[in-house]
Parts: sequence; structure tokens; C-alpha cells
Amino acid sequence: MASGCAQKVVLITGCSSGIGLRIAVLLARDEQKRYHVIATMRDLKKKDRLVEAAGDAYGKTLTLLPLDVCSDDSVRQCIDSVKDRHIDVLINNAGVGLLGPVESISMDEMKKVFETNFFGTVRMIKEVMPDMKKRRAGHIIIMSSVMGLQGVVFNDVYTASKFAIEGFCESMAVQLLKFNVKLSMIEPGPVHTEFETKMMQEVAKMEYPGADADTVRYFKDVYIPSSIDIFEALGQTPEDIAKCTKKVIE
Ligand code: NDP
Repeated sequence: MASGCAQKVVLITGCSSGIGLRIAVLLARDEQKRYHVIATMRDLKKKDRLVEAAGDAYGKTLTLLPLDVCSDDSVRQCIDSVKDRHIDVLINNAGVGLLGPVESISMDEMKKVFETNFFGTVRMIKEVMPDMKKRRAGHIIIMSSVMGLQGVVFNDVYTASKFAIEGFCESMAVQLLKFNVKLSMIEPGPVHTEFETKMMQEVAKMEYPGADADTVRYFKDVYIPSSIDIFEALGQTPEDIAKCTKKVIE
């Protein structure tokens, strides 16, 4: 560890893949060992990729905990098992996407997006905030999206969930400032991860009952191919977003 510097405890949600995995690895492998990373995932059976990428850091500057952000009990148990409930940096990364004509999406699917992207983040903030306020120190980071700033066709519910968390955090940031707790939002554009791949694969296979034929045709023949082009031309890597996140907490 860098001499004279305490290691920051950083808890990250959704580390089984994509951006969360890369942030966990980058911080845990910091040359000056400035971070102790608590990498969480809802299914620890998915830990192998993270463990392999973390290499020597696993078990030293990186430990693993189970965490489902949609469960009150899981969130409480996870934070309770952190020594003294002391977290310096909380990175709310876990998220799910939902793409397609809204007429064909069930209310349950829509609620799952809000339960994860909005309430999952709120649940985490509620749990860590009391300790951060008491210590008058801490940093909460939200992995939002450009879709938290601008509506994007066929991403209606995902976009709404990111707008919702942006609004919540803008209000919270002001309240937290007087306790010296920072709140930062990261708003990536397209990123090449399983998240995007999974979505594109799913939508290509799906049927859209309830949506009119022209909308479905436009969605499949124009929207999806042009979205793939945009990802290919502009997509950043999860490592790019991890580097940006590291800068935000430094
Ligand atoms: P991935 O699908 O690769 O990662 C999402 C992570 O969230 C997975 O680890 C997943 O776990 C986890 N997760 C989902 N639901 C829960 C839950 N209930 N509890 C705990 N973890 C959960 O996608 P990305 O890395 O791309 O996404 C990470 C974040 O970045 C998301 O918030 C997303 O909205 C945001 N983002 C992504 C962009 C992109 O283009 N990829 C662009 C802008 C923002 P599991 O393996 O168990 O499903």
C-alpha cells in the first residue's frame, strides 16, 4: 500500500461481467494498492472470469460477496458483512436493459428494469448512506447512461429508468454535500459488452405481439442494423469506462 495512505474500501455491484468486472479488476490491480475492492455479484457461480482477470489480486486487494440489488435482505446482509459497514466508495453498476416496441413488453418486464436500475441503486444508497454521513466522508457513483440524458427510440423503459435515477441522484447530491459525501454520475455511450450483445441477439429472435407491423419492420430492419453500426463505429470498451471510473474516484 502507498505509505501513509489508508486503503479505500470500494464496493461494486454487478461484477460478473462487462463494466463492473473491469472496474473491479482495474482498481484491485492498482500499482499503489490504494483500493480494497469488494466485488459483488448475484450468483457467485459466475466468479471465474473475475477471479482469473484479477490474478494475484484475488484474496488480497479483491474479495467477493454475493449481492442481489433487487433483494432487501441480500443488500442488508452484504453491507452487514463488510467490516464496520465501512465503505468509502460505492459503485452502483448493476443494470439490465430492455429493448423493443413498448406494446409488446409486459408490465413485469418493465418493473424488473425499474426494480434493478432504479430501486436497486436506491436500495444500495439507503443502506450505505447512514455510515457515510456519520463519518462525513464517502463517494457514491452511479453507472447511468447517455440514455439518462436523452430518450432513445425503442429503449423507452430503460431510458426512463436511467432518467429516474438521474433525477433521484441530482436531488440527493445536494443533501449529501453538507455531509461531505460526494455523488457522481457516469453516463457512457455505447459500450461493447454482453449487455449489448445479449440485447441484440434477443431482439433479433423475438416476436412482437401487439405492435403494429410497420413498427416491427422499422425496428428490425432499420433500428437494429443502424444500432449495431453505431456500436461498431462509436463503441467504447468496458476498460475505457473502468479507466474513467477510476479517474472519478481518484
Ligand atoms: P452486463 O450485462 O455485462 O453487466 C450487468 C451486470 O449487472 C451483470 O453483472 C449482472 O449480473 C448484474 N445484475 C443484473 N441484475 C442484477 C441484480 N438484481 N443484482 C445484482 N447484479 C445484477 O452489462 P454492462 O457491463 O454493459 O452494464 C453495466 C452498467 O452499465 C449497467 O448499469 C448499464 O445500464 C450501464 N451502461 C451500459 C452501456 C452499454 O452499452 N453496455 C451503456 C451505458 C450504460 P448477472 O450476470 O447475474 O446477470
